[in-house]
Amino acid sequence: MLEIDNLHLHYGGIAALKGVTLRIDSGEIVGLVGPNGAGKSSLLAAITGLRRPSAGAISFQGRSLIGKTPEQIVRMGIALVPEGRHIFRTLTVGENLRLGSTIRRDRAAVKRDLEDLLALFPALKRRYRALGGHLSGGEQQQLAIARAMMCKPLLLLLDEPSLGLAPVVVELVLETVDSLRRSGLSVLLVEQMALSTVRLADRSYVFRTGSVVLAGTRADLVNNSEVAKAYLGI
Ligand code: ATP
Repeated sequence: MLEIDNLHLHYGGIAALKGVTLRIDSGEIVGLVGPNGAGKSSLLAAITGLRRPSAGAISFQGRSLIGKTPEQIVRMGIALVPEGRHIFRTLTVGENLRLGSTIRRDRAAVKRDLEDLLALFPALKRRYRALGGHLSGGEQQQLAIARAMMCKPLLLLLDEPSLGLAPVVVELVLETVDSLRRSGLSVLLVEQMALSTVRLADRSYVFRTGSVVLAGTRADLVNNSEVAKAYLGI
C-alpha cells in the first residue's frame, strides 16, 4: 500500500532521514519506534507532503506522493493524527468531528460514519456537546483519531498518541488502534514507547538518527531478547 525507498530529508545542513526504506501492506499495523530526534516526525512530514524529501521515492497504491500537496495526499486516502492532537478547543466534539469530513461530498455516508465512530468511542458520544478544551487528555486523543477517521482514510498515521497520557489511558488508546485494524484500515503507529508498540503492531521498524537500524515482525522482535534488550528496553 505504501512504499518508501531510500528516502533522504534535510533541514538545511541537518540530515533528518538518511536513506529510509520501509513498506506498509494493506490492513497492517506497522510500528515506528525510536527516541527523540530519530526522524520519526520527519518521515510523517514527508509522507503527508508537509516536507519535500531531498532524494528517494514514496508511493501509495502505486502512485508517487513526491510533489503532491498535503490536500491531494489526504484525498488519496492518507490521514495524519499529529503529535499534540491539535483539536479545536473552542469547538464542540461534534464540530471537531464534522471538520474531519470537510473534503467529502457523500453526506449520507458521512452521517453513517459519524454514528459508527461514536459507537466505537463511547466517551465521545457522551461528551458530544462538550468543548474540545474541556476533554481529558485521553478523550482529546480519541477525538483526534476519530476526526482523522472522518475523512475515511485507507492509511492512518498516528504520531505519538500516548504522549502525555497516563499508562491506563495509553492502554485504552492502543486498544482503539487495535479495533481500527479490524475495520480493515492500515495504520502507521509512531511511538517512543517501544515495547507496547512492537507488541501491538504486525511489524515494526526501529529508528536511530535518521536510519532504520532494525525491522521485523512482532514475533521476531519480541522473542529476540538481545535485540529487545538493546532497542526496546525489555
Ligand atoms: P520527536 O520524538 O522529538 O518528534 P523525531 O524522531 O520525530 O523526534 P524529528 O522531529 O523528525 O525526530 O527530528 C529529526 C532531526 O531533524 C533532529 O535532529 C531534529 O533536531 C531535526 N529537525 C526536525 N525538525 C527540524 C526543523 N524544522 N529545522 C531543523 N532541524 C529539524
